[in-house]
Amino acid sequence: MKNGLIVSKIKNGTVIDHIPAGRALAVLRVLGIRGQEGYRIALVMNVESSKMGRKDILKIEERAIEEREAELITLIAPEATINIVKDYEVVEKRKQKVPDKITGLLRCTNPSCITNNDPEAATKFKTLRKSPIELVCEYCETRITEQEVLRQILE
Ligand SMILES: [Zn+2]
Repeated sequence: MKNGLIVSKIKNGTVIDHIPAGRALAVLRVLGIRGQEGYRIALVMNVESSKMGRKDILKIEERAIEEREAELITLIAPEATINIVKDYEVVEKRKQKVPDKITGLLRCTNPSCITNNDPEAATKFKTLRKSPIELVCEYCETRITEQEVLRQILE
């Protein structure tokens, strides 16, 4: 990297690039990683990006990203690319799309929404806008902004 912030390549694992500046910790939270799991992790924050101005990068050794995790990541990092590394080489580059519908991952903020009162009802949101994310509850039409999504992920 041109600014001399050297982070060595990982042998096997996942590199998540193009995370909006300052959100790498939220991405780690989405993955359920708190530091005690023993993964070797490189977290690079607020580095220059020609595309984004500033960005964060996460490198996680010996950890794959599941489809559902990748979907959740797009809610807070819609431009993120997920690179799978094997033997120091990127063997797969995934650009995850923000899903049109999100089921069961987030809560509706309306206390009288059926999803907050019937334990059998899973939340269902339709994506109104992808970047920044805006969702609408399919049951009560309450809108959920990016700020609320971040709040629920970080709590
Ligand atoms: Zn609702």
